[in-house]
Amino acid sequence: METVVAVDLGGTRVRVALVDEDGRVLAREVFATPTGGPDGAAVTDAILAAVRRVGGPRPRPVGIAAAGPLDLVTGAVVSPPNLPYPRIDLVGPLSEALGGDVTLVNDARAGALGEHAHGAGAGCDDLVYVTISTGIGGGVISGGHLLGGRGGNAGEIGHITVETRHGLVCSCGYPNHWEGYCSGRNLPRFYAVERRAGDPEYTATPEIFAAARAGEPGARRFLEAVAVLNGRALSALTVAYDPARIVLDGAVVQAQADLLVGPTVARMERYLPCPEVVTSPLGGDAPLLGAAVAARRRR
Ligand SMILES: [Zn+2]
Repeated sequence: METVVAVDLGGTRVRVALVDEDGRVLAREVFATPTGGPDGAAVTDAILAAVRRVGGPRPRPVGIAAAGPLDLVTGAVVSPPNLPYPRIDLVGPLSEALGGDVTLVNDARAGALGEHAHGAGAGCDDLVYVTISTGIGGGVISGGHLLGGRGGNAGEIGHITVETRHGLVCSCGYPNHWEGYCSGRNLPRFYAVERRAGDPEYTATPEIFAAARAGEPGARRFLEAVAVLNGRALSALTVAYDPARIVLDGAVVQAQADLLVGPTVARMERYLPCPEVVTSPLGGDAPLLGAAVAARRRR
């Protein structure tokens, strides 16, 4: 059975794993994403060393999932918002050093591939993968195929417009996008504009959920407002792609599914049949397993 090496390059940590065809992780290494050194070679070199340790001496296909922006033509991460480098070259230096195929894929698109092959989307050829963590991203599988678009950017769903009252500006520079309100980074900012006189002040996302769980009325009312926007976004995805299933993932969903999923589904429109909305069973490994799928497809 052929095994491949999968890499998930995140803003805070890098995960490297040896993965078999059934999506089983046979070996795994996790380390903090390098932030020192003069350029992105610090990251490339650390990944190369880990791939050699995890993959062993034999050349194997390598799949790398990374947060964008990606330049898929040259195989690099360019101007990453969460890392102090203008550019991280991956495909060129790694394929040269390892002597095998190296494939780069956006991490949210990889998540869709991972769910489709090994997770909540298994056996379902029309699904939308949604990840809500620091930002909001996604990937669309339609008729069994991952939608790419012109530059591999189909699925940038965090930049769907869901609101018009507050004008909060998203990380992309435009106002009223889903990510600008409902991502882990931006929920406290959304709370600040929804907060009424007498409501407590909250400055961190976990604080808001903890307060809601304890029954604090301001936090509970706010999570209803969050469900309205999440419901609008999932309704937009439903009419755009007619999925059978929407898979929710990401750190915010994993930690707060009980307070997020039910209220969101309740707010979804029913113009088309409502897709099944489920949470990822892969414990945060969907992008990693999807990187392995991408590596294998390349062969
Ligand atoms: Zn945006």
